[in-house]
Amino acid sequence: MTPILQVCAVTKSFREGTSSRTVLAGVNAHVMASEVIVLLGPSGSGKSTIVNLAAGMDAPDAGRVLLGGQDLATLSERQRTLVRRRRIGLVFQGYNLIPELTVHENVALRGALDGTPAPQAVEALLAEVGLSGRGHEYPDHLSGGEQQRVAVAAALCHEPELVLADEPTGALDSATAKVVIELLVRLTRGRGGALVLVTHNPEYQKIADCVWRLEGGLLRSERVATS
Ligand code: ADP
Ligand code: MG
Repeated sequence: MTPILQVCAVTKSFREGTSSRTVLAGVNAHVMASEVIVLLGPSGSGKSTIVNLAAGMDAPDAGRVLLGGQDLATLSERQRTLVRRRRIGLVFQGYNLIPELTVHENVALRGALDGTPAPQAVEALLAEVGLSGRGHEYPDHLSGGEQQRVAVAAALCHEPELVLADEPTGALDSATAKVVIELLVRLTRGRGGALVLVTHNPEYQKIADCVWRLEGGLLRSERVATS
């Protein structure tokens, strides 16, 4: 089976004044369909860089990033955007909701591919994240945890094959964070998608099929034994 994501010998450096800083020094990794990956690493180790590369929002200096077997570098910017919209769901620390749109509209907008999703489908998804009947409200009337649950629904609405969640609970207290992570895992798994969860919290290793540890530009991948 073709992995949904393949990262092959990827290097990435960023300019820092007159010098350059190597963030990824030959990273190899892959994600199979329906897998849950927990990506751990110190601040500045390149976790977000990996997310950006996987989503085609940035390009490697060398090496390849393949989504569903397709090398993202061979696509035009427009094709990459379409592939991202179709195949990937993104969740960030900041909830990334549009304040002028209602909760329902935020989810429907992100779920729109070849047309707007059915209102009942959006409502069902809102119910799944515990926000039944809240679709008419505006994001700034919701708590942080509620906003992030809307963001999870929005990211999952088009049933992406790969969900990339970059420190999605970084702004939440630990009890709320647990609820959001549990939802993210349950909804992604329920739709047959794979999840890459970037987190500082080693606690979440226990929900992973595979743990990626990023340090010193290198990534170590460890399969988690299932009991
Ligand atoms: P993490 O998400 O693990 O905290 P990042 O991937 O955001 O780390 O960043 C890794 C390193 O790369 C940091 O030193 C950061 O300053 C640098 N970096 C990331 N993106 C850019 C960019 N667009 N321009 C310059 N430096 C960047
Ligand atoms: Mg980051």
